[in-house]
Amino acid sequence: MANKKHVIIAGAGPVGCSTALALAQAGIQVTILEAEPELLLDMRASTFHPPTLDMLEDLGVAKEVINQGLITPKFQYRDRQDGLIAEFDMAAISDHTNHPYRVQAEQYKLTRIIADMLPAYPHAELIYNARATSLEQDDSSVTVHYEMPDGPQSITGDYLVACDGSRSFARKALNIEFPGFTYPELFMVVSTTDDITETVPDMCPVAYITDPDEWCAVIRAPEMWRFLLPTDPNMSDEELLDLDYLESRIQGFAPKEAKYTVSHSTLYPVNQRVAETYRIGKVMLAGDAAHVNNPLGGMGMNGGVHDGLNAAEKLIQILNDGASEDLLDLYDRQRRPIAVEYVQAQTIRNKKIMEEKDPAVRKQRQDETRAVLNDPKKSHKLMMQVSMINSINKSNAIE
Ligand SMILES: Cc1cc2nc3c(=O)[nH]c(=O)nc-3n(C[C@H](O)[C@H](O)[C@H](O)COP(=O)(O)OP(=O)(O)OC[C@H]3O[C@@H](n4cnc5c(N)ncnc54)[C@H](O)[C@@H]3O)c2cc1C
Repeated sequence: MANKKHVIIAGAGPVGCSTALALAQAGIQVTILEAEPELLLDMRASTFHPPTLDMLEDLGVAKEVINQGLITPKFQYRDRQDGLIAEFDMAAISDHTNHPYRVQAEQYKLTRIIADMLPAYPHAELIYNARATSLEQDDSSVTVHYEMPDGPQSITGDYLVACDGSRSFARKALNIEFPGFTYPELFMVVSTTDDITETVPDMCPVAYITDPDEWCAVIRAPEMWRFLLPTDPNMSDEELLDLDYLESRIQGFAPKEAKYTVSHSTLYPVNQRVAETYRIGKVMLAGDAAHVNNPLGGMGMNGGVHDGLNAAEKLIQILNDGASEDLLDLYDRQRRPIAVEYVQAQTIRNKKIMEEKDPAVRKQRQDETRAVLNDPKKSHKLMMQVSMINSINKSNAIE
């Protein structure tokens, strides 16, 4: 049974969908405005970390994500010249999570799973072709104006959670700064349906390969192997997306005589930015609307889902239990520092490690990584960090 309180969500990406489902399950009326005519077939994120799976389990979603994904308990650090440096097994953190593994599943699978669940909640609505354009708010409500194919519309609710991605209309409407920087090079994802282990038998489904010129993150999704690579800023998009060139990039990491089938490729501009606040009045930013980072470590969508569910938890306490609206400031206090001190710091560091040019530093890092592998305590600490469990614990500890 829905109560009369109403939350508007802008954007039906992974963050908007998860947030909406959590609110709907608590009986809160929720309307998602999605700009596109259907859910995006978005293949950007493909990694679900343990705490995200734990949260999705609470929503009744994890099982289906796991069904449609690939369970990957192990990950590797490799060097392009020196090969395997260390392989870690996340079984070591099974005392801290119900899911001591990553699940590799493209992000569109999550949004589709949730969109299929929403009709079970009559007080939840997903409106397509609804591009939010502007908003106004006072002490008691927020009104969002949006464009539909047949003209402009407006909707009024108690709160707005803006999950509308990196170009968030709400962030701009509220003049919230988004400081940070853009990398000069585009990142490229090239995918193949060919089995990489036929060429490199010990390649793990998750492998980070350092190289001073051409680092690579290899991720196996259920249907394909994905290679995330840097590109040369002097090359045009046309040159970068040339099929022979794309194929040569896979050959660079798993050389074989026969040609690879290139099944998918995309170029992405990459930013490191965090909004200067996550809340103004009755509007909260979550996910890419609030922070963007490079994909090394797979933290953008995961951190975004953590934001959205944190915001939903606060809204449930306010709307269902009469808690103070001050809780929304706690949302900002808990989630914003995590983006700055944890996700930004970690992802920027990951890229630096991947592309380190000084041979002595690279050698030292390799020795340190092997030492971590051989020390169970250090190994456990590393896995708590890269799995994002530390970030959740830190966030929850903030009052
Ligand atoms: C190559 C690459 C690989 C990545 N891999 C990972 C990974 O493995 N793990 C990870 O955690 N993250 C990863 N990321 C980051 C991840 O893709 C994003 O962090 C994630 O998509 C953010 O989700 P979101 O719901 O906040 O925003 P989005 O996914 O961008 O969704 C926003 C939604 O809002 C809609 N919208 C936009 N504007 C409006 C509007 N005005 N009104 C209404 N609707 C609107 C859009 O159509 C879209 O549906 C990767 C990114 C890249 C580039």
